[in-house]
Amino acid sequence: MEEVYKKYHNGFLELFEGWGITYDLFTTTHTENHFKVSQSIFLALQKNGFMFKQTSKQWFSPSAKRFLPDRYVEGTCYICGFDGARSDQCDNCGNVLEPEKLINPRSREGGALELRDTEHFYLDLSKLEPDVKKFLKERADHMRDTVLGESLGKIEAEGLKPRPITRDLDWGIPVPVEGWQGKCLYVWFEAVIGYLSAPIEWSQLSRREEAWREWWVNPSARQFHFIGKDNIFFHTSLWPAQLMGAGVAFGQIFSEEEYALTLPFDVPANQFMNLEGKKISGSRNWAVWGRDVLTRYDPDALRYYLTVNMPENKDSDWDWAEFVARNNNELVATWGNLANRVLAFCYKHWEGHAPDLDPATLRRADADLLATIENGFTAVGAEYEAVHLRSALGEALKLATAVNVYLDVNAPWTVVKTDKDEAAKTIYTALKAIDSLKILLAPVLPFTSQRLHEFFGYETSLFGEQYVEAVSDSLGEHTTLRYRPVPGLSEGAVVAWKPSRLKPGQKLNQPGPLFKKLETSVIEEERARLGK
Ligand SMILES: [Zn+2]
Repeated sequence: MEEVYKKYHNGFLELFEGWGITYDLFTTTHTENHFKVSQSIFLALQKNGFMFKQTSKQWFSPSAKRFLPDRYVEGTCYICGFDGARSDQCDNCGNVLEPEKLINPRSREGGALELRDTEHFYLDLSKLEPDVKKFLKERADHMRDTVLGESLGKIEAEGLKPRPITRDLDWGIPVPVEGWQGKCLYVWFEAVIGYLSAPIEWSQLSRREEAWREWWVNPSARQFHFIGKDNIFFHTSLWPAQLMGAGVAFGQIFSEEEYALTLPFDVPANQFMNLEGKKISGSRNWAVWGRDVLTRYDPDALRYYLTVNMPENKDSDWDWAEFVARNNNELVATWGNLANRVLAFCYKHWEGHAPDLDPATLRRADADLLATIENGFTAVGAEYEAVHLRSALGEALKLATAVNVYLDVNAPWTVVKTDKDEAAKTIYTALKAIDSLKILLAPVLPFTSQRLHEFFGYETSLFGEQYVEAVSDSLGEHTTLRYRPVPGLSEGAVVAWKPSRLKPGQKLNQPGPLFKKLETSVIEEERARLGK
């Protein structure tokens, strides 16, 4: 078990570094800290009377002499008829299943199965139902309809029923109750607690022991959970129920203090992304593999396509022909060529510097364009904050189009031959606009925005630095992905969410293309890899 987890965990670290996905701390749940936090939540729920013990039937393997983990037992879903459901949940209809009702159960390890009695702790979610409903209704104005449907809609239709929170397992977090050796906390129950334990670990590693409270003991902090549609219910209903049920008892048990934990603000879950019209399947290799695909394409080209195509409100489809078309017609044509054309032209005609002019001499049209771009910081920023990522990217690209239109009208490429001062005004304005667009696009295109930042001659860095660090505790060693913020910037993220302050005459660096145009032949090459 430990080897499997380490292999996947380290694969994730490589994937995130390659794709430019940053975490202040990406850690694991197999840590002493996570065990302690999870056990404290468990004990707080018990103290507050939200738990009971009950005997139920669980699949037992006589040959292995043990209860099998739920995912080792498969069969036909008794709700939707899908053959291939796990004994405790169906990936087809998304329902939680009662193991003993599974039709045609079979062990993935082979061998016979029998139902045996076993005692477990249950979380009495029915008692917490009114609180969960209230929690969701208070967020109905900003939560996505699809997310509300999967949570509030589901609870109103079916109610919240008690769920077991322990399992017969030999690898996991021990149940912190005398006489319960050999039983562990159920993974659905403790995995979400990572949202609380990881910031606590981060605070300890950062030598700022209390820093986690800025988010967790602060009612005005806004927590977002970025997940896929199959995980909505855990994050919108079960996790808030755990937090509300634990209440101030958590603090009493964890650190002998009284405080209530902050509840999630939003769960902007995406719908599914299919691939070439079919559901993605790892086992059938109907997939785009994160690390493999980076060997053929630049991360920003992939990030661009994923963002414009993100299934924010309905399922979407990864289509290789569309990937090539959007890369060539939008990313390269609208944005990449704009930046490259203006920088290369300026570098050549103004000897490696931005035009040196008095900004007071800029014309009305120049000021208008810069004002339009400046307003983008509010408009695009609001879209990112609301987690409307497609729309944020769309707004930023519209601004790039506005710069292209401005250049067509002012034609510095021909004006430079007759009136270099007029061309200088156009080029300086366009440079400044591009320098701002770089910031607006940086969340989606971090690698090329950084390169562009360097072409402009800045010596600073747009982002901090990711690094891998091994951390040891009484359970052993685990590797973490960490983040070193840009020195001197409190937020640690982008240089600043502010328009360009490009100085006239600023020294530039030799520019080059930011993106690659793709050959249409890659469409068939990629399609040929699928399903093999
Ligand atoms: Zn089902």
